[in-house]
Amino acid sequence: MLDLIIKNGKIIDGTGADPFFADIGIENGKIVFIGDCTAEAKKVIDAEGLVVTPGFIDSHSHADNAVVDFPEQREKCEQGITTSVAGQCGSSYMPKIKSSNEARRSAAGFFKKLNTLPLGANIVTFVGHGTVRSSVMGLANREPTGDELEQMKALVRESVKAGAIGVSFGLIYVPSCYAKTEELVEIAKACKAAGGMISAHIRGEGAQVVDSVKEFIHIVKESGAKGVISHHKAAGVKNHGKTEITLELIRQANAEGADIYCDVYPYVASSTSLSAKFVPKEFQADNKMLENLADPATRARIKERLTPQETSSYDGVLVTVCKGHPEFQGKTLTEIGEMLDCDCVEAALRVIELGGGRASACYFTMNESDVERVMAYPRTMICTDSSVAGNNSVYHPRLRASFPRAIGVYCRERGVVPLVEMIRKITSLPADVYGLRSKGIIREGYDADICIFDFEKIIDKATYAEPSNRCEGLCYVIISGEIACVDAVYTGAGTGRAIRRN
Ligand SMILES: [Zn+2]
Repeated sequence: MLDLIIKNGKIIDGTGADPFFADIGIENGKIVFIGDCTAEAKKVIDAEGLVVTPGFIDSHSHADNAVVDFPEQREKCEQGITTSVAGQCGSSYMPKIKSSNEARRSAAGFFKKLNTLPLGANIVTFVGHGTVRSSVMGLANREPTGDELEQMKALVRESVKAGAIGVSFGLIYVPSCYAKTEELVEIAKACKAAGGMISAHIRGEGAQVVDSVKEFIHIVKESGAKGVISHHKAAGVKNHGKTEITLELIRQANAEGADIYCDVYPYVASSTSLSAKFVPKEFQADNKMLENLADPATRARIKERLTPQETSSYDGVLVTVCKGHPEFQGKTLTEIGEMLDCDCVEAALRVIELGGGRASACYFTMNESDVERVMAYPRTMICTDSSVAGNNSVYHPRLRASFPRAIGVYCRERGVVPLVEMIRKITSLPADVYGLRSKGIIREGYDADICIFDFEKIIDKATYAEPSNRCEGLCYVIISGEIACVDAVYTGAGTGRAIRRN
């Protein structure tokens, strides 16, 4: 007796091959049969008129930040994600070598903890270079000593050996941003030698985007590591169109033997902390940001340093989080400036201070043609670039709806990428890039992580104003052979697993 049969579905197997009609038999979490299924099963799903695909893989997630407290990862599962790739942008749950919490201290401890939790989606993780660096040298704005560099390399090696897939750089964030290119090359080499790969939030996504992609290509070439450029974009009106140049650089590098990929979320607004955009990095060193803001002379220097490029469009900065001050949430900097009777830069700094440093915003800085161009590149995957909401409110619709939106809007409505190719981008491509053997393809012997949806109806409903809305048209999400979501509502299955690097 099989555990589950999915009957009569149109199967898109994830490889890029043409769709076909067949039944799928599932037993013990695995796909055991594809064809005309006459066996008995404990459960049968009739997928007549529906598309059956491998479960979606979130190429760039920050799920590790909250997964220990909120292992269900509801917002991920409820949009079809069956595996989260976490630990991105230089920041990961571990290794914080001085922590008293074993799960924080090392990758081995993190995996041990995850194995005791009822995970929703599966999870794999990078270790963050910023996390490693701050473990070894705090938030110091300087080059590491030889000894410190060796300690960082050892931590990365140890993490990769314990099952992390590689190291992520977060080159706009403190302290990863304090690293020069040579440090990153050394870390990447150590990571590659241990069997890992790299990813990066590159050094600049606005005026610096072309040079930043060049720096990343250099690191990949010097280290020989496989690399992913995270949430690739060209931010700021003056930089729109530059993805034409960056993608050509990536194509060339790959033609010369590099192995570089991108990921993208299907939105024109990014989201990050206000301090990342409004407080230059040297003023954040050694945990002194709030102290620096409180000193009038230093505050004046911070304001001077903000270039018009970084701060041009205040209507396009929508504050989504200010800890303890809900009155600012959902307001633009222009509106907050009016509330506080000050200019927009001053408004941003005050929100940062009032939130005790905990303030974030959405930034409407991209244009659709760059998003579409990056998405259409065959080596681009799709991502949420989001943590799990947990007790916090959802602050950007991508946490709820990246994958239904990619399929419903960019594939069905706009035809940017054909359906079979879109499914490849969100299943077998990331499985291949991140070394997830037995995932990402509908094939006998593979893990039974599966999505079933109505291609005519699948659509995102989350918006910037209402970012928590569930998607429509996603009928079933199956994780390890168990039904994890029905009509985008999580069932409590808890059948996800922590996956160590192969
Ligand atoms: Zn990032």
